Amino acid sequence: MTESASVAFDDDSAPAGGLATLSNPGTRRSFLRGAGLALLGTVLSPLMAQSRGARAKPKPRFTVPVRARVKNVKVRKGRWTTLIVHHSGIRSGNATTYDREHRRRGMENGLAYHFVIGNGVDSGDGEIEVGSRWMRQIKGGHVRSDQINEVAIGICLVGNFDQVRPTPNQVAALKELVTYLRNEVVGSRIKFQGHREAHPGHTACPGRYFPLKEMHRLFG
Ligand SMILES: [Zn+2]
Repeated sequence: MTESASVAFDDDSAPAGGLATLSNPGTRRSFLRGAGLALLGTVLSPLMAQSRGARAKPKPRFTVPVRARVKNVKVRKGRWTTLIVHHSGIRSGNATTYDREHRRRGMENGLAYHFVIGNGVDSGDGEIEVGSRWMRQIKGGHVRSDQINEVAIGICLVGNFDQVRPTPNQVAALKELVTYLRNEVVGSRIKFQGHREAHPGHTACPGRYFPLKEMHRLFG
């Protein structure tokens, strides 16, 4: 959000094998070899499963409803180049109340952000709400520069992070959302920024307690 706004508003615009040889009058040796392989399989497969598990993608948690909601949204390749994170600047609110406020302030497309992540006050703690601008794939209204709005996905976390930290669930939800967008939707070359990095000197958003460094470590 911007410095001037008192409510959320960014104006600014193997198988084991081997046992088959039992029925085969072949040789004891082949049975033993098979049994040996079976034994080896018994020992190795849990280990292999473990290492597969370590590499596997974590199960979606916060993005499950998002994935369902956006399944018919067609995202044009190259449409989005930047991902900008905000705080709402107030402790309460959700996508609906911010949408109402943004309309009241003259934004005909309402909610300026594409996604809102709740803090447990007026929406779930870590709940990701999808804004109509994302559903319609239209530009946001979350930064002053319209040029940036045109290409920047806006994600807002409910709260004032100049006063408090985002909740652990909000941070986890944000990481999962950004990972999902990068890996499955817009491509990992998308640039990650806190609002103040898009507009240096203009705003402190997303607040001093927002873990911006940690996010940059993860997302560049
Ligand atoms: Zn902001």
